[in-house]
Order: sequence, then structure tokens, then C-alpha cells
Amino acid sequence: SQVVNYAPFTLLPSAVPSALFEQAYAVQQDFNLLVDAISQNKEFLERTLASTIKVDDFTARLFRIYTQVLEEGLAQSVFLGINRSDYMFDCGVDGTPALKQIEINTIAASFGGLTSRTAAVHGRILKVLGKPKEASRLLPNNPSKGLALGIVKAWELYGSQSAVVMFLVEEVQRNIFDQRCVENELWDRNIRVIRKRFRDVFEKGSLDDARRLYMDGQEVAVVYYREGYMPKNYNQQNWEARLLLERSRAVKCPDIATQLAGTKKVQQELSRPGTLEGLLSGHTEAVARIRATFAGLYSLDMGKEGDKIAAMAIADPDRFVLKPQREGGGNNLYGEELRQVLEKIKDSPERTSYILMDKIKPQPAMNYLLRAHSPLQVSECISELGIFGVYVRQGKEMVMNTAAGHLLRTKAIEHADGGVAAGVAVLDTPYLV
Ligand code: ADP
Ligand code: MG
Repeated sequence: SQVVNYAPFTLLPSAVPSALFEQAYAVQQDFNLLVDAISQNKEFLERTLASTIKVDDFTARLFRIYTQVLEEGLAQSVFLGINRSDYMFDCGVDGTPALKQIEINTIAASFGGLTSRTAAVHGRILKVLGKPKEASRLLPNNPSKGLALGIVKAWELYGSQSAVVMFLVEEVQRNIFDQRCVENELWDRNIRVIRKRFRDVFEKGSLDDARRLYMDGQEVAVVYYREGYMPKNYNQQNWEARLLLERSRAVKCPDIATQLAGTKKVQQELSRPGTLEGLLSGHTEAVARIRATFAGLYSLDMGKEGDKIAAMAIADPDRFVLKPQREGGGNNLYGEELRQVLEKIKDSPERTSYILMDKIKPQPAMNYLLRAHSPLQVSECISELGIFGVYVRQGKEMVMNTAAGHLLRTKAIEHADGGVAAGVAVLDTPYLV
């Protein structure tokens, strides 16, 4: 962790169809509303995750904290969501690309900081290559500022001048510079930032009678999680620290309910006819915009429907992706491996810890992937576009709802899975066509 490497990036920006880029931005406020609505809908979360929490211990532990916090009654009244909705451009039979959502990340959505710099890098490269006109067409992009403005708003509404913002970070801080970009925006606005691990919270965190959160005697207004989304982030002490944070009045980004709203099982349930309409009643156009981005998603819950889906995937594994309730890349199953795993668990409740999704097939393009200590070679690549969403709610009232910028990640086609942090994808800049 003492060694600094440059973040991996493409040599050249990648072509992105401008209509799909605009579509992704246009649906982001709808997704913010949707995630926020799910986080407030106990009945929906309970029903949707019922089968999953029976077999998936991690989701079950998160759910237990969620229930416990609700039973005690929420001390938190200001809510801050920072999410990133990720898409690929699916190439239809006639070759027309369509925007299809891969997933929405509601906790620790990263690279908003580093990607605020990539347009400048690619602009410079294009100029060096004698393409100043093309360089001038790259869009400015500053998610770190947009994310910070959400944190600032939540901090203001919390209403204590002396309170700090706490970044909850990993033991080994590999992606620290990405986080610093957001942090710097807060210091620029005279907001104090502290960086702590779950371990520090366990040792030094406390609540007062009004459940205000204190760290080392400093009141904390906002907790921004850049950790806590995968099982290996937790030991028993860390779970206790998480519970303490969730019980507190501090604005958690995200609160435990919003983290659960980002599970793959919830994503799959949203694609069922009628679900979106129920969650966003009265928002007919938003529902249509959201639904247009959905790929085929299928439940593997026990019963006839699940049996049929499992058989369909086993018969044609290359058409699908099998996803467990995990975040962070490298967990999904494809092709022959998908078939073998599903064959093994198809009659067991274990299958309900997964969802099945249609595999998106984008049109590849050539690019160079530049990665520290790796040989330079041209690769056939595909890209994934992410849009950052930021919203703040006070009680029942939405006081901020924005799209705060974008992220383009590109990887060689031989890797089915994995993001930048997993060492597979690299940072890119969209070149709209
Ligand atoms: P994670 O939470 O681990 O990031 P994702 O759902 O984003 O899980 O999947 C990880 C990666 O796998 C994506 O970045 C993408 O490259 C690939 N992937 C996921 N779903 C699909 C899909 N339906 N079709 C094609 N590739 C996919
Ligand atoms: Mg992902």
C-alpha cells in the first residue's frame, strides 16, 4: 500500500453513441427517485429479499441491522444517496445499439474522482496526435464536485457547524486518490473531513442520548462509506461498528436500507411487470424511461417458474450471466462455469442466492489499455458507461436530485467480468458519435 501507481487508462477515448449517452443521463433522476422509494418501502424489501436472506448470510446480516434500526426508530432524518448506474450498449440483431443497465451501485460507487481527470488526459493525447478538433469535442466531466455538493447539502441540513464528514475507508487504501478528489472539494468549502476505518469506529465511536455520533469527541454529520459492501470487509467488531453508525443520527451515505435497495435480487424483482408502477405510482414517464434500460432478468426462486429458468440457462449458458448477491467485480458466472454451477444447485434452495440475467453483447472496438508494469498491446475492447446520481431527502421532501457526471470503463473482451478495482477494466473517456 506504500507504492503509488498511475490508474490504468485507455490510450484513446472510445466512441459512444450520443443518443444512448443522453438517454443514460435523462433516466438518472428517475433512478435516484426509485432507489430512494425502495429504501423507504419496508414491505417491498422484506418480500423481495425473503428468499435471499434464507441462503445468503451477508445479505441476511445487513437485513438484520436494517430491521433492528427500524425497530428502535430512525434517528436519521436527512438522507444522502450517491449511486452509479452502469450500462452497456447491446448490439441488436440489426446492429442498432441499445442502452442496457448492468446494475446500479448504491454504496461506495467509485472512480468519480479519478474520472474527473480523464477528459484532460485524453484531450492532451489527441492534441499530441494532431487531432485538436477531436480534442475540443471531449465533454467536461466533474463527478467529484457533484458528489461533494451532495455531501455539502447533507452536512448543511444536519445543521451543526462544528460537525465533520467521516469517510469510512478500507484497511488497505488502494484507491485513496479517487477519494481525495471528493475530499478536497469539501475542504475547499470549509468542511472538515476525517478518514476512519470500521476498526476506529468500534474503538472510538460513541452515541449520546440524542444518538448523535462522536468520533474522538468530534461530532459526525455525514458518514460516507467507501467500504462495507462485501463480506470480507466485516469481522464481528466491524458488524458492531456498522450497527452503531446505522443507529446514529448522522447522515449515512448510504443508509442500510439504500444499500439493500442496490442488491441484485432487488434489481431482478424490479423487472417484474407491475413492480415499478407500484413503487413509483403516478410517475408514468419515469417508469417507461427506467424500463427501457432493463435487460432480461430472471428469478431463481424455488417453484415451477424458477425450475424453468434454471433449465433454460443450462440449455443455453452463453445467453446469460449468473449473479450472486455480491459487489466489487469478479463474482459472476458465465458460459460453461455457469452451466456447471447451476446443474449442481438447480434443485437446492442455494440457487435463490443468485439471479439470472441476459448477457449484453456490445460491439467491440480496438484500443490500447495502459496499465502500470504491463506490456503495451492493442486489444479488442468493450466499454461500460456509468452515470453518477446524487440526491438528498429531508424527511419526506427531496431537496436535491441530480446526475453528477459520468464514468466510462473499458476492458478487453476476453474478460467477461471485473471493474477497474478488480484490475480488469481501465478508465476511459466517451467520444460521442
Ligand atoms: P459487480 O457488483 O461485481 O460490479 P456487475 O453486475 O456490475 O457486478 O457485473 C460485473 C461485470 O460483469 C460488469 O462490469 C460487466 O463487465 C459484466 N457483466 C455483468 N452483467 C453483465 C451482462 N448482463 N452482460 C454482459 N456483461 C455483464
Ligand atoms: Mg458493477
